[in-house]
Amino acid sequence: MTAPRKIALLTTGGTIAMTNQGRGADVSISGQALGARIGGAIDVEVTEVFAKPSPNMSLADMALLAQTALAKSRDVDGVIIAHGTDTLEETACCLDLLLRTDTPIVLTGAMRTFGAEGADGAANLRAACRVAASPSARGLGVLAVLADEIHAAMLVRKAHTSSLNAFTSQPFGPLGSVVEDRVHLLLRPARRSPELRWGGAGSHVPIVHVYSGFEAGALARYASDEVDALVLSLPGGGHVPADLVEALEAVATSKPVVFAARTQGGETLNRTYGYVGGEMDLIARGLIPAGTLDALKARIAIALLVSSGADRRAVAAFFDHFRGV
Ligand code: ASP
Repeated sequence: MTAPRKIALLTTGGTIAMTNQGRGADVSISGQALGARIGGAIDVEVTEVFAKPSPNMSLADMALLAQTALAKSRDVDGVIIAHGTDTLEETACCLDLLLRTDTPIVLTGAMRTFGAEGADGAANLRAACRVAASPSARGLGVLAVLADEIHAAMLVRKAHTSSLNAFTSQPFGPLGSVVEDRVHLLLRPARRSPELRWGGAGSHVPIVHVYSGFEAGALARYASDEVDALVLSLPGGGHVPADLVEALEAVATSKPVVFAARTQGGETLNRTYGYVGGEMDLIARGLIPAGTLDALKARIAIALLVSSGADRRAVAAFFDHFRGV
């Protein structure tokens, strides 16, 4: 007979813990009440870490969540984190970079409020619990389980505002699924993310979304010392209008400037386009390609790097892991 599994549930708020009392949905459900929805033979120990909508999660909050998850992971078979779906992908990425444990750490959430018609929270909690308790989920890095799909932290993103099946890992796909309460993993990430640490210093790393007709003057504010690093979300494989390149080069002399593809699929290019503003030109001017990471995930990584004093060279070395060099 297999020993009963023990799971830690960390709650943070989000729609999964919200009800609508007539003035729109807000957090009102305790961590204990969420834990009670899991049921079954699994022993669940609940810790309420936050009770907020997920757009309020700061990097310091994510670091505290990572610390709590790590502490719990030593005494349980797996850790589940109930989280708002809006920024779940940012927290998942941050935890994947901070945590080094083989114990499964699984984020989940809900698209419908607690007790709403067809609410998905309880089913998502149960599926996340199955995955967290499964020996097959050990050593895969941080996971997200929603709508019975098992996603890798560095690939998952919210791709729909209201669908019950709002999460995707496109263009790669989920690692597996939960079927009939069985955890069925079909793929493993080829390697773990490099380990980063949270240095505690607040780091200001804005994302700038560049579009055709973007005006160079809008970049001036990012040269200020108040900005620690800059992430650009760029058209195609990493391309800007030609009249931006000098301003970007100037910013890149004083702080890391990383560019990600805004396409939501495919990685930044390195040696295809040589025109002024093409990715070859940007790299020659000192900008760093984010590889497969999108701007949101790149921003989390850079904020962690900068918070612990990393310089441009260390930031570039980190992103090499995500561009197959
Ligand atoms: N606004 C909510 C949040 O992210 C949405 C959700 O949880 O799905 O907290």
